[in-house]
Amino acid sequence: MSISGNIAKVEERIQKACGAAGRKRGDITLMGVSKFVPVNMIEEAWQSGIRCFGESKIQESLAKFETFREDHPELDLHLIGSLQRNKAKKAVLFFDCIQSVDRLELIGELDKFASMRQAAARQAAARQAAALNVLLELHTGEDSKSGFSGFDELFRAAEIVLSGANLKPQGLMTMAPFTEDARLIRGSFRQLVKAQKELERRFPPAENWTCLSMGMSNDFEIAVEEGSTMLRIGGGIFKEQ
Ligand SMILES: *Cc1c(COP(=O)(O)O)cnc(C)c1O
Repeated sequence: MSISGNIAKVEERIQKACGAAGRKRGDITLMGVSKFVPVNMIEEAWQSGIRCFGESKIQESLAKFETFREDHPELDLHLIGSLQRNKAKKAVLFFDCIQSVDRLELIGELDKFASMRQAAARQAAARQAAALNVLLELHTGEDSKSGFSGFDELFRAAEIVLSGANLKPQGLMTMAPFTEDARLIRGSFRQLVKAQKELERRFPPAENWTCLSMGMSNDFEIAVEEGSTMLRIGGGIFKEQ
């Protein structure tokens, strides 16, 4: 199996979907979802140009990326799996972005620990950069029911994130249902876009909400058509095709 070959194929499909949708490839980040993937394979993906990686468990991420990060300072590491409150501190101090913010009570916890990132940065500019990037996860139909359950809860979450001093909202994340039915998948992505539009209107500036993290190995072309700015691809990169 060749990881660089897999990435080339995924890349070709993204470019084709961009062409069909009249979008620019440069507006979309390709994340390698590296859960269960050993470091040597992550290194191969890095060699093929992937800089953003997604992990679902803290312990596994620390084990794999602590040293990796020292040798690869441009690493952009995101947490995409459900976060337990008692692990919030570890997560905040280790990840560049937490995409799986899915409960109101988690937000205060994240803000509290994010102030430790701020305190560690000596200059004002660095303090700005030390704010923790977060995405709000919206449940749009996928089975596990992770994510905020509706728009009201999502707006409340946005309010709390913006009232915190140490969190930087970047946008939204969702998982479409795992199905062959393209209409259901599309419906899920459209809900996320609709939520984004509402957030832009209610909680300007729009830059707070530019990232739409949607699209996985089985549905990323639909996600590109619907406006995704970040594709989270695991199997398509790291598994035998
Ligand atoms: C595992 C996972 C992915 C990647 O799924 P693939 O089908 O392997 O591409 C994307 N997003 C989340 C939240 C995941 O847990």
